[in-house]
Amino acid sequence: MKELAKTYDPKDFEDRIYGEWMEDHAFHPEVDRSKEPYTIVMPPPNVTGNLHMGHALNNTIQDILIRFKRLKGYQALFLPGTDHASISTEAKVVEKLKSQGKSKEDLGREEFLKEAWAWTEEYGGNIKNQLKKLGVSCDWDREAFTLDDNLSKAVEEVFMELYEKDLIYRGDRIINWCPHCHTAISDAEVEHIEHDGKIWTFKYPLTDGSGYLQIATTRPETIPGDLAVAVNPEDDRYTDLVGKAIQLPFMDREIPIIADSYVEMEFGTGAVKITPSHDPNDFEVGARHDLGQCIVIDQKGYLNENAGPYAGLERFEARKKIVEDFDQKGLLVKVDNHHNAVGHCERCKTVIEPLISKQWFVKMEPLAKPALEAYQKGDLHFIPDRFGKIYSHWLENIRDWCISRQLWWGHQMPVYYCDHCDHVEVTTEEIDKCPACGGSVHRDPDTLDTWFSSALWPFSTLGWPNKTEDLDYFYPTNVLCTGYDIIFFWVVRMVFSALEQTGQLPFKDVFLTGLVLDEQGRKMSKSLGNGIDPLEIIDQYGADALRFTLITGNSPGNDMRFSIDRVEANRNFANKLWNASRFVFMHMTDDLYDLKDIKDLQLEDRWILSKGQRVAREVAEKLDHYDLGLAADAVLNYIWSDFCDWYIELVKPRLFSQDAEDKKVAVSVLAAVLKDILRLLHPFMPFITEEIWSKLPDSQDFLMVNHWPEEDDSYLDPEAEDKLERVQEAIRAIRNARAEMNIAPNKKSKTLLYSQDAKAKEALEGTEGFFKTQGFSTGFEWIENPKDLEGDHLSVVSQGVEYYMPLEDLVDYEKELQRLKKELGTAESELDRVVKKLANQGFVSKAPEALVAKEREKEGQFKTQIDQLKKRIESIENR
Ligand SMILES: [Zn+2]
Ligand SMILES: [Zn+2]
Repeated sequence: MKELAKTYDPKDFEDRIYGEWMEDHAFHPEVDRSKEPYTIVMPPPNVTGNLHMGHALNNTIQDILIRFKRLKGYQALFLPGTDHASISTEAKVVEKLKSQGKSKEDLGREEFLKEAWAWTEEYGGNIKNQLKKLGVSCDWDREAFTLDDNLSKAVEEVFMELYEKDLIYRGDRIINWCPHCHTAISDAEVEHIEHDGKIWTFKYPLTDGSGYLQIATTRPETIPGDLAVAVNPEDDRYTDLVGKAIQLPFMDREIPIIADSYVEMEFGTGAVKITPSHDPNDFEVGARHDLGQCIVIDQKGYLNENAGPYAGLERFEARKKIVEDFDQKGLLVKVDNHHNAVGHCERCKTVIEPLISKQWFVKMEPLAKPALEAYQKGDLHFIPDRFGKIYSHWLENIRDWCISRQLWWGHQMPVYYCDHCDHVEVTTEEIDKCPACGGSVHRDPDTLDTWFSSALWPFSTLGWPNKTEDLDYFYPTNVLCTGYDIIFFWVVRMVFSALEQTGQLPFKDVFLTGLVLDEQGRKMSKSLGNGIDPLEIIDQYGADALRFTLITGNSPGNDMRFSIDRVEANRNFANKLWNASRFVFMHMTDDLYDLKDIKDLQLEDRWILSKGQRVAREVAEKLDHYDLGLAADAVLNYIWSDFCDWYIELVKPRLFSQDAEDKKVAVSVLAAVLKDILRLLHPFMPFITEEIWSKLPDSQDFLMVNHWPEEDDSYLDPEAEDKLERVQEAIRAIRNARAEMNIAPNKKSKTLLYSQDAKAKEALEGTEGFFKTQGFSTGFEWIENPKDLEGDHLSVVSQGVEYYMPLEDLVDYEKELQRLKKELGTAESELDRVVKKLANQGFVSKAPEALVAKEREKEGQFKTQIDQLKKRIESIENR
């Protein structure tokens, strides 16, 4: 006989069970055309990352959906994988080299990539093994990595295709440049930090000697690159000046005064300097007025040879020097404090420098349109709904996507430049000769933005561009589950890429998760030191308790607070189920009825089976609507309250009765309900349910590939549910009243009932036994009129019925009086102590305010307690 261990210890079985599932390839669904597929592709964590609470939450959600659908009979595929995470991996390798006194240029591209692969292999396994600890039922046979051959092929294929459709182009653009990371970064990777800076107002002399024009700037270091001064065409102050010229101080250069409606008349003096090469707005103005370009700051953040006397200075040094020079010449009008947001590199916090650079771009407008329409037509859903607005907003305001990065780790551009003519060849084949002139070529050293490959993730992982069986069957996927912070980076890009490449949406639903906060509602962070490591929680409490904690009390899109108390409570829940299962096993035999063959189910049997039917439907419905937290609550209540606290207690007398037939019925129902409970709870707590399941006498296959509780309307029994609900409510009320009166558990009395409600009366028929075992009753007695009752009674009212219990039988008045008097004595001496303390001036003046307040609070509490005790004593004495 298989036996469930005496105590619940997740360490005993969690890893073992995961190993058994893996060995059996239980997570691997084959293509089976007779069944419906259900697919989730995991958002790929960084290959060298470590599991944090965000991953734990996200993957728990996905695994619950997958396990639920698998039990529902779908071919459920949870496809895992990792992302090469270009910049963060490269930065780590560069750091490692630096500690050895080397730079990536010292190594050269080939050697550097070898280092990066070695790094990836060394740390790449961590996150996979950590995910396994969580119990995720991913198909590891289909695991993908963004640098896999096929995924790289998909990347080149898409690049080629977009290039041929003129949707990818190379252009001079203002880009966000990080002088530290030495790469272009996308708008979304720029962090705008509020900052108290300065704004300088300078005088620019007119060439005709007729005076000055005042301009204001927050970045004087760009002055050497000025190519014009602009005013608003509506601005009367400057009408006469448009068309005249400025002598740019210290630069020996004349620049025109132009009119452009981009200039805000209210800002500063209403005249602004235009530096097309170093400001995105000025870039546009420059293009409109054909001003050309003048680059004065280089990629390292130093002023270059175009900067005249400032050449060679670091950008902030140059700022200082330029301000000094203007001041000395009497051209500095004033310096004001200026509060503004300055763009910083999200990764290294260096101030971003807008630079002109040759980069590759994806033309966004034609791609964004269908992605926006898909949402507007209602084909793409966001859970919760409100995130649809953010999605639309991004798409409506999208700019062309700069996809080239000055990094080595990633997908290198499939682009070759001729060394002799101006031919550019985009090709997936490696070439060494120019197709135009036959001369030598060199490949573009840049790599693609890491999001370029993750944008293809939902279909490249299934084999695209090859027409695979997997792609045909499992694609499009059902739901994408990710954090709301990457709607733009990732969700938007997956949608337009999928529409463009596969003609279909990559998924119908986007389920967005919030952040996992600490107990006090703060973001978990290294600097606060309040981060909680999911692996430590698993080690201490088990993966099931962690999963349940992440799911309960969590609603889609909202941040959630994580507390150890809740983990403990959920571990206790698992423990409760464990003990209840052991109890059932104790009575179980191999010879049990099929429920269908039982003729005379008792009321409590009919009730628990009916309730089980409804809970299974409710949970399924909630899961289908992504209300995972509510689904988990429903399962928990059914198991803890209905099954453990009520059904097992109600059925106990039958288990120990002499009636062998009724005992067999009871055990059969217990076993059947336990099985359904394990099925219901499995998606949430996969390990404990599988372990208990494996100890059932008739279990052969894994629970995880069993089935969801079967729907059977014949078990729905509203009458039984109504009766039991009335019983539960009445008994709860009786228990509460007894607890208030401190009535000992061994004191029982008859229950006198009164009701004018015929239906309520009828509903209690046949429930006397429950009151005997659960409600401290020796039996029922219906009365005609409560006014006729003599003596004191404990009374409660519940659902139209009054319950009276003679106090004479329940309370030993002498003993109770003694107890109350003793309690009164204690309370009075406590009050005395507090009063003396508060009368002590030394204490009141020196102790911390909070402590004094606490003592005053105690004083009040003791006074109330004393009042109550006195009243009770009086009422017993006057009885
Ligand atoms: Zn940076
Ligand atoms: Zn050529």
